[in-house]
Amino acid sequence: MTYPHIYSHTAMLRHNPSEDIDGFVSPEIPDRLSAILESMPKDALHFINDQDAATAQQLSRIHHSDYVQHLIQSTDKNLLLDFDTAIGRGSVQAAVIAAGTSIAAVRTACRQPGQATMAAVRPPGHHAEVDRAMGFCLFNNVAIAAQHAIDELDINRVCIIDWDVHHGNGTQNIFYERDDVLFISLHQSPLYPGSGYIEEIGRGPGHGYTINVPMPAGQMNADYLEVFDRIIDPATARFDPDLILISAGFDAHKDDPLGNMCITNDGFANMTRKCSMLAKSHCNGKLSFILEGGYSIPALTQSMNTCVATLAGTPIPETNQQTMPRTLEIIGRVKQTHPQWLS
Ligand SMILES: [Zn+2]
Repeated sequence: MTYPHIYSHTAMLRHNPSEDIDGFVSPEIPDRLSAILESMPKDALHFINDQDAATAQQLSRIHHSDYVQHLIQSTDKNLLLDFDTAIGRGSVQAAVIAAGTSIAAVRTACRQPGQATMAAVRPPGHHAEVDRAMGFCLFNNVAIAAQHAIDELDINRVCIIDWDVHHGNGTQNIFYERDDVLFISLHQSPLYPGSGYIEEIGRGPGHGYTINVPMPAGQMNADYLEVFDRIIDPATARFDPDLILISAGFDAHKDDPLGNMCITNDGFANMTRKCSMLAKSHCNGKLSFILEGGYSIPALTQSMNTCVATLAGTPIPETNQQTMPRTLEIIGRVKQTHPQWLS
Protein backbone atom coordinates (compact mmCIF):
# COMPACT_ATOMS: atom_id res chain seq x y z
CA MET A 1 0.00 0.00 0.00
CA THR A 2 1.42 3.42 -0.96
CA TYR A 3 0.58 5.97 1.68
CA PRO A 4 0.49 9.70 1.09
CA HIS A 5 3.50 11.46 2.60
CA ILE A 6 2.43 13.07 5.89
CA TYR A 7 4.78 15.85 6.96
CA SER A 8 5.08 17.02 10.56
CA HIS A 9 7.49 18.06 13.35
CA THR A 10 7.29 17.56 17.12
CA ALA A 11 8.13 21.25 17.79
CA MET A 12 4.46 21.93 17.08
CA LEU A 13 3.58 20.05 20.29
CA ARG A 14 5.25 22.80 22.33
CA HIS A 15 2.64 25.46 21.45
CA ASN A 16 0.47 25.43 24.56
CA PRO A 17 -0.66 28.92 25.66
CA SER A 18 -3.30 27.41 27.95
CA GLU A 19 -0.42 26.17 30.09
CA ASP A 20 1.62 29.36 29.81
CA ILE A 21 -1.07 32.02 30.39
CA ASP A 22 -3.21 31.99 33.52
CA GLY A 23 -6.91 31.79 32.73
CA PHE A 24 -6.46 31.21 28.99
CA VAL A 25 -8.25 28.10 27.76
CA SER A 26 -8.31 26.80 24.19
CA PRO A 27 -9.54 23.61 22.53
CA GLU A 28 -6.56 23.86 20.13
CA ILE A 29 -4.27 21.72 22.30
CA PRO A 30 -1.06 19.73 21.70
CA ASP A 31 -2.95 16.45 22.18
CA ARG A 32 -4.62 17.04 18.81
CA LEU A 33 -1.30 16.59 17.03
CA SER A 34 0.21 13.97 19.34
CA ALA A 35 -2.88 11.77 18.82
CA ILE A 36 -2.55 12.17 15.04
CA LEU A 37 1.14 11.27 15.09
CA GLU A 38 0.49 8.21 17.25
CA SER A 39 -2.35 6.97 15.06
CA MET A 40 -0.88 7.46 11.59
CA PRO A 41 0.81 4.61 9.71
CA LYS A 42 4.51 4.94 10.57
CA ASP A 43 5.49 4.41 6.92
CA ALA A 44 3.57 7.55 6.00
CA LEU A 45 5.19 9.97 8.46
CA HIS A 46 8.01 12.29 7.37
CA PHE A 47 9.46 14.66 9.95
CA ILE A 48 10.97 17.86 8.58
CA ASN A 49 14.23 19.28 9.97
CA ASP A 50 14.46 22.38 12.16
CA GLN A 51 16.07 24.29 9.30
CA ASP A 52 12.96 23.69 7.18
CA ALA A 53 11.02 26.17 9.34
CA ALA A 54 9.53 28.91 7.17
CA THR A 55 11.84 31.89 6.75
CA ALA A 56 10.82 35.48 7.43
CA GLN A 57 10.99 36.00 3.65
CA GLN A 58 8.57 33.11 2.98
CA LEU A 59 6.18 34.37 5.67
CA SER A 60 6.41 37.96 4.39
CA ARG A 61 5.21 36.95 0.93
CA ILE A 62 1.77 36.65 2.56
CA HIS A 63 1.94 38.61 5.82
CA HIS A 64 3.02 42.21 6.46
CA SER A 65 6.68 42.16 7.42
CA ASP A 66 5.88 44.24 10.56
CA TYR A 67 3.51 41.49 11.71
CA VAL A 68 6.09 38.76 10.96
CA GLN A 69 8.79 40.66 12.85
CA HIS A 70 6.44 41.34 15.77
CA LEU A 71 5.76 37.62 16.17
CA ILE A 72 9.38 36.56 15.68
CA GLN A 73 10.51 39.13 18.25
CA SER A 74 7.83 37.77 20.63
CA THR A 75 9.34 34.27 20.61
CA ASP A 76 9.01 32.78 24.10
CA LYS A 77 6.89 35.69 25.38
CA ASN A 78 3.38 35.13 26.68
CA LEU A 79 0.97 37.32 24.72
CA LEU A 80 -2.77 37.41 24.07
CA LEU A 81 -3.08 38.34 20.37
CA ASP A 82 -6.87 38.08 20.04
CA PHE A 83 -9.65 37.00 22.41
CA ASP A 84 -9.11 33.33 21.49
CA THR A 85 -5.53 33.38 20.16
CA ALA A 86 -2.41 33.53 22.28
CA ILE A 87 1.26 32.65 22.21
CA GLY A 88 3.45 31.23 24.93
CA ARG A 89 6.77 29.47 25.16
CA GLY A 90 7.37 27.55 21.91
CA SER A 91 4.36 29.01 20.06
CA VAL A 92 6.16 31.15 17.50
CA GLN A 93 8.60 28.33 16.77
CA ALA A 94 5.61 26.00 16.31
CA ALA A 95 4.01 28.48 13.92
CA VAL A 96 7.09 28.90 11.71
CA ILE A 97 7.52 25.11 11.70
CA ALA A 98 3.82 24.71 10.76
CA ALA A 99 4.30 27.02 7.78
CA GLY A 100 7.54 25.24 6.83
CA THR A 101 5.85 21.84 7.12
CA SER A 102 3.09 23.04 4.80
CA ILE A 103 5.70 24.23 2.30
CA ALA A 104 7.46 20.83 2.50
CA ALA A 105 4.20 18.98 1.82
CA VAL A 106 3.39 21.20 -1.16
CA ARG A 107 6.95 20.90 -2.50
CA THR A 108 6.68 17.10 -2.64
CA ALA A 109 3.20 17.27 -4.17
CA CYS A 110 4.60 19.48 -6.95
CA ARG A 111 7.87 17.62 -7.53
CA GLN A 112 6.42 14.12 -7.37
CA PRO A 113 3.06 14.47 -9.12
CA GLY A 114 0.65 11.74 -8.12
CA GLN A 115 2.17 11.58 -4.63
CA ALA A 116 -0.55 13.24 -2.53
CA THR A 117 0.78 14.82 0.65
CA MET A 118 -0.52 16.05 3.97
CA ALA A 119 0.78 18.59 6.46
CA ALA A 120 -0.13 17.55 10.03
CA VAL A 121 0.30 20.97 11.58
CA ARG A 122 -0.74 23.27 14.40
CA PRO A 123 -1.41 26.08 15.07
CA PRO A 124 -3.89 26.08 12.16
CA GLY A 125 -3.77 28.88 9.61
CA HIS A 126 -6.88 29.75 7.63
CA HIS A 127 -8.18 32.52 9.92
CA ALA A 128 -4.82 34.35 10.01
CA GLU A 129 -5.05 37.64 8.12
CA VAL A 130 -2.27 39.59 6.41
CA ASP A 131 -1.51 41.53 9.58
CA ARG A 132 -3.24 39.78 12.46
CA ALA A 133 -3.68 36.50 14.27
CA MET A 134 -7.16 35.21 14.96
CA GLY A 135 -9.14 32.01 15.54
CA PHE A 136 -6.17 30.04 16.97
CA CYS A 137 -4.18 30.90 13.78
CA LEU A 138 -0.85 32.79 13.69
CA PHE A 139 0.44 32.37 10.12
CA ASN A 140 -1.74 31.34 7.18
CA ASN A 141 -0.12 28.01 6.35
CA VAL A 142 -2.11 27.19 3.22
CA ALA A 143 -1.63 30.67 1.75
CA ILE A 144 2.12 30.62 2.47
CA ALA A 145 2.43 27.19 0.83
CA ALA A 146 0.36 28.27 -2.19
CA GLN A 147 2.51 31.37 -2.65
CA HIS A 148 5.70 29.30 -2.35
CA ALA A 149 4.40 26.99 -5.10
CA ILE A 150 3.69 30.00 -7.35
CA ASP A 151 7.03 31.69 -6.65
CA GLU A 152 9.36 28.68 -6.56
CA LEU A 153 7.75 25.56 -8.01
CA ASP A 154 6.56 26.56 -11.46
CA ILE A 155 2.89 26.67 -10.45
CA ASN A 156 0.72 29.33 -12.08
CA ARG A 157 -2.77 28.57 -10.79
CA VAL A 158 -3.78 27.14 -7.42
CA CYS A 159 -7.22 26.00 -6.34
CA ILE A 160 -7.74 26.04 -2.55
CA ILE A 161 -10.72 24.03 -1.29
CA ASP A 162 -11.49 24.84 2.36
CA TRP A 163 -13.80 22.27 3.99
CA ASP A 164 -13.16 23.33 7.61
CA VAL A 165 -16.51 24.00 9.32
CA HIS A 166 -15.48 27.65 9.80
CA HIS A 167 -15.10 30.13 6.96
CA GLY A 168 -11.47 30.64 5.91
CA ASN A 169 -11.60 34.43 6.17
CA GLY A 170 -7.83 34.87 6.18
CA THR A 171 -7.22 32.86 3.03
CA GLN A 172 -10.14 34.56 1.30
CA ASN A 173 -8.91 38.06 2.09
CA ILE A 174 -5.27 37.31 1.20
CA PHE A 175 -6.23 36.24 -2.33
CA TYR A 176 -9.37 38.41 -2.70
CA GLU A 177 -8.03 40.53 -5.57
CA ARG A 178 -6.13 37.79 -7.41
CA ASP A 179 -7.07 35.62 -10.37
CA ASP A 180 -4.30 33.01 -9.95
CA VAL A 181 -5.89 31.47 -6.84
CA LEU A 182 -9.44 30.11 -6.86
CA PHE A 183 -10.68 29.93 -3.27
CA ILE A 184 -13.71 27.74 -2.55
CA SER A 185 -15.02 27.49 1.01
CA LEU A 186 -17.87 25.35 2.29
CA HIS A 187 -18.68 26.16 5.87
CA GLN A 188 -21.40 26.42 8.50
CA SER A 189 -23.24 29.74 8.62
CA PRO A 190 -23.96 31.43 10.92
CA LEU A 191 -20.80 30.54 12.83
CA TYR A 192 -17.43 32.07 13.73
CA PRO A 193 -15.90 34.16 12.14
CA GLY A 194 -19.15 35.47 10.64
CA SER A 195 -17.91 35.97 7.06
CA GLY A 196 -18.24 33.78 3.96
CA TYR A 197 -21.51 34.94 2.44
CA ILE A 198 -22.35 33.90 -1.12
CA GLU A 199 -22.05 37.55 -2.19
CA GLU A 200 -18.36 37.67 -1.19
CA ILE A 201 -16.91 36.79 -4.61
CA GLY A 202 -13.59 38.62 -4.91
CA ARG A 203 -12.71 42.08 -6.22
CA GLY A 204 -10.92 43.67 -9.18
CA PRO A 205 -8.92 41.00 -11.05
CA GLY A 206 -10.10 38.54 -8.38
CA HIS A 207 -13.79 39.15 -9.17
CA GLY A 208 -15.40 35.69 -9.21
CA TYR A 209 -12.32 33.88 -7.88
CA THR A 210 -13.81 33.47 -4.38
CA ILE A 211 -16.68 31.00 -4.10
CA ASN A 212 -18.47 30.73 -0.76
CA VAL A 213 -20.95 27.98 0.07
CA PRO A 214 -22.42 28.84 3.50
CA MET A 215 -24.63 26.07 4.84
CA PRO A 216 -26.93 25.81 7.87
CA ALA A 217 -26.07 23.48 10.75
CA GLY A 218 -26.98 19.82 10.42
CA GLN A 219 -25.75 19.12 6.89
CA MET A 220 -24.81 15.53 6.19
CA ASN A 221 -22.41 13.64 3.91
CA ALA A 222 -24.79 13.76 0.95
CA ASP A 223 -25.08 17.55 1.19
CA TYR A 224 -21.32 18.09 1.14
CA LEU A 225 -20.91 15.61 -1.72
CA GLU A 226 -23.64 17.37 -3.70
CA VAL A 227 -21.69 20.63 -3.29
CA PHE A 228 -18.64 18.84 -4.70
CA ASP A 229 -20.61 17.49 -7.67
CA ARG A 230 -22.47 20.69 -8.52
CA ILE A 231 -20.00 23.44 -7.55
CA ILE A 232 -16.47 22.34 -6.68
CA ASP A 233 -15.99 19.86 -9.55
CA PRO A 234 -17.23 22.10 -12.39
CA ALA A 235 -15.58 25.29 -11.04
CA THR A 236 -12.24 23.55 -10.58
CA ALA A 237 -12.49 21.99 -14.03
CA ARG A 238 -13.06 25.39 -15.66
CA PHE A 239 -10.35 27.12 -13.60
CA ASP A 240 -7.93 24.32 -14.60
CA PRO A 241 -5.42 24.60 -11.71
CA ASP A 242 -1.80 23.40 -11.66
CA LEU A 243 -2.13 22.45 -7.98
CA ILE A 244 -5.02 21.71 -5.59
CA LEU A 245 -4.65 22.45 -1.87
CA ILE A 246 -7.17 21.41 0.73
CA SER A 247 -7.65 23.41 3.92
CA ALA A 248 -8.58 20.22 5.71
CA GLY A 249 -10.33 20.93 8.97
CA PHE A 250 -12.20 18.06 10.56
CA ASP A 251 -14.55 20.16 12.70
CA ALA A 252 -17.53 19.49 10.40
CA HIS A 253 -17.45 15.98 11.92
CA LYS A 254 -20.67 15.01 13.71
CA ASP A 255 -18.78 14.60 17.02
CA ASP A 256 -16.91 17.92 16.93
CA PRO A 257 -17.66 20.22 19.88
CA LEU A 258 -17.20 23.49 17.92
CA GLY A 259 -19.26 22.74 14.80
CA ASN A 260 -22.82 21.52 14.32
CA MET A 261 -22.48 19.56 11.10
CA CYS A 262 -23.08 15.81 10.74
CA ILE A 263 -20.19 14.60 8.57
CA THR A 264 -18.91 11.10 9.33
CA ASN A 265 -15.55 9.47 8.66
CA ASP A 266 -17.04 8.04 5.45
CA GLY A 267 -18.04 11.56 4.43
CA PHE A 268 -14.45 12.76 4.74
CA ALA A 269 -13.30 9.67 2.82
CA ASN A 270 -15.69 10.46 -0.02
CA MET A 271 -14.59 14.11 -0.11
CA THR A 272 -10.96 13.00 -0.16
CA ARG A 273 -11.64 10.69 -3.08
CA LYS A 274 -13.32 13.51 -4.98
CA CYS A 275 -10.32 15.80 -4.37
CA SER A 276 -7.98 13.05 -5.54
CA MET A 277 -10.00 12.53 -8.72
CA LEU A 278 -10.06 16.27 -9.38
CA ALA A 279 -6.28 16.49 -8.98
CA LYS A 280 -5.73 13.52 -11.28
CA SER A 281 -8.04 15.00 -13.93
CA HIS A 282 -6.76 18.58 -13.89
CA CYS A 283 -3.27 18.88 -12.44
CA ASN A 284 -1.42 15.61 -12.86
CA GLY A 285 -2.30 14.56 -9.30
CA LYS A 286 -0.67 17.56 -7.58
CA LEU A 287 -2.64 17.56 -4.32
CA SER A 288 -1.82 18.47 -0.74
CA PHE A 289 -3.94 18.58 2.41
CA ILE A 290 -3.07 21.14 5.09
CA LEU A 291 -4.61 20.45 8.51
CA GLU A 292 -6.82 23.21 9.94
CA GLY A 293 -9.33 22.59 12.79
CA GLY A 294 -10.88 19.50 14.38
CA TYR A 295 -11.43 19.49 18.14
CA SER A 296 -12.79 16.04 19.00
CA ILE A 297 -9.58 14.06 19.20
CA PRO A 298 -11.16 10.67 18.35
CA ALA A 299 -13.09 12.22 15.42
CA LEU A 300 -9.99 14.07 14.22
CA THR A 301 -7.70 11.02 14.27
CA GLN A 302 -10.29 8.66 12.79
CA SER A 303 -11.33 10.96 9.97
CA MET A 304 -7.75 11.87 9.12
CA ASN A 305 -6.80 8.19 9.09
CA THR A 306 -9.75 7.51 6.81
CA CYS A 307 -8.46 10.18 4.42
CA VAL A 308 -4.98 8.63 4.46
CA ALA A 309 -6.43 5.17 3.77
CA THR A 310 -8.52 6.58 0.92
CA LEU A 311 -5.47 8.21 -0.67
CA ALA A 312 -3.68 4.85 -0.31
CA GLY A 313 -6.44 3.19 -2.35
CA THR A 314 -8.71 1.65 0.30
CA PRO A 315 -12.25 1.31 -1.14
CA ILE A 316 -14.84 3.46 0.58
CA PRO A 317 -18.58 3.02 1.04
CA GLU A 318 -20.91 5.07 -1.14
CA THR A 319 -23.34 7.32 0.67
CA ASN A 320 -27.06 6.65 0.17
CA GLN A 321 -28.45 9.70 1.94
CA GLN A 322 -30.78 12.20 0.30
CA THR A 323 -29.61 15.76 -0.30
CA MET A 324 -31.63 18.24 1.74
CA PRO A 325 -33.83 20.76 -0.17
CA ARG A 326 -32.07 23.63 1.63
CA THR A 327 -28.72 22.47 0.19
CA LEU A 328 -30.15 22.44 -3.34
CA GLU A 329 -31.46 25.98 -2.82
CA ILE A 330 -28.02 27.21 -1.68
CA ILE A 331 -26.33 25.46 -4.62
CA GLY A 332 -28.78 27.23 -6.95
CA ARG A 333 -27.88 30.63 -5.47
CA VAL A 334 -24.14 29.94 -5.74
CA LYS A 335 -24.58 28.91 -9.39
CA GLN A 336 -26.50 32.11 -10.15
CA THR A 337 -23.75 34.15 -8.46
CA HIS A 338 -20.91 32.48 -10.40
CA PRO A 339 -22.08 32.03 -14.00
CA GLN A 340 -18.49 32.16 -15.30
CA TRP A 341 -17.74 28.85 -13.57
CA LEU A 342 -21.11 27.23 -13.14
CA SER A 343 -23.38 28.04 -16.10
ZN1 LIG B 1 -12.50 25.29 12.07
